[in-house]
Amino acid sequence: MNEAIVEDIIIKVIEEFTGNVNIKAACDCDDTINSIPVELSARHVHLSEEHIQELFGEPLVFKKELSQPGQFLSKQRLRLIGPKSVINNVAVLGPSRPSSQVEISLTDAKLLGVAAPVGQSGEIEGTPGIIMASTDSIVGLEEGVLVAGRHIHMPTSDARRFDVKDKEMVSVHLDTERPVIMENVLVRISDDFKLAMHIDFDEGNGSAWKNGVTGKIVKGAVKYNGI
Ligand SMILES: [Zn+2]
Repeated sequence: MNEAIVEDIIIKVIEEFTGNVNIKAACDCDDTINSIPVELSARHVHLSEEHIQELFGEPLVFKKELSQPGQFLSKQRLRLIGPKSVINNVAVLGPSRPSSQVEISLTDAKLLGVAAPVGQSGEIEGTPGIIMASTDSIVGLEEGVLVAGRHIHMPTSDARRFDVKDKEMVSVHLDTERPVIMENVLVRISDDFKLAMHIDFDEGNGSAWKNGVTGKIVKGAVKYNGI
């Protein structure tokens, strides 16, 4: 059991005995207990083994670990060629996937000229294709271009703490310079995950995201101030 869970239990017990719902504010324990790290997911490509071979003629070369266990940034880069323009130097993430998938922002989609829908990773049926080029080779992807929907990776221990279920949609308040409440955030629960919320570049820039930003799940109906 990690420290955050123990702290949460202690707070709940104290609240029950004292009826003090503001115990967190009253004590000097920090407020990070319910915070979810928010990470920016830049445009990237996942490739099938077949496409890795076709494009690079060798396996992906490890460059850097990513926050989710087992996921890594490779040294390889790709060029995306759309009907309207080209985006160079696109990151390729490993390990390989059963199907290749290109995750871009809505701004990228407009620039490239592809009608990429907002969808969750792996939901590639009916999505548009694109041309992917390495320095040596070219692959025409039939489908697999999407704008990744905002989501939270959550281990089961955190799911109990936050009282959420796998595939539940939640709203999350982002503690940024331009604070926002993001709705329709998909919770994905697995003990293979490390706790993190992923948003894309457009969402990050729109909310003035920067490193270290955290989010909090907003329970119940989202209330708007003013009108
Ligand atoms: Zn993610």
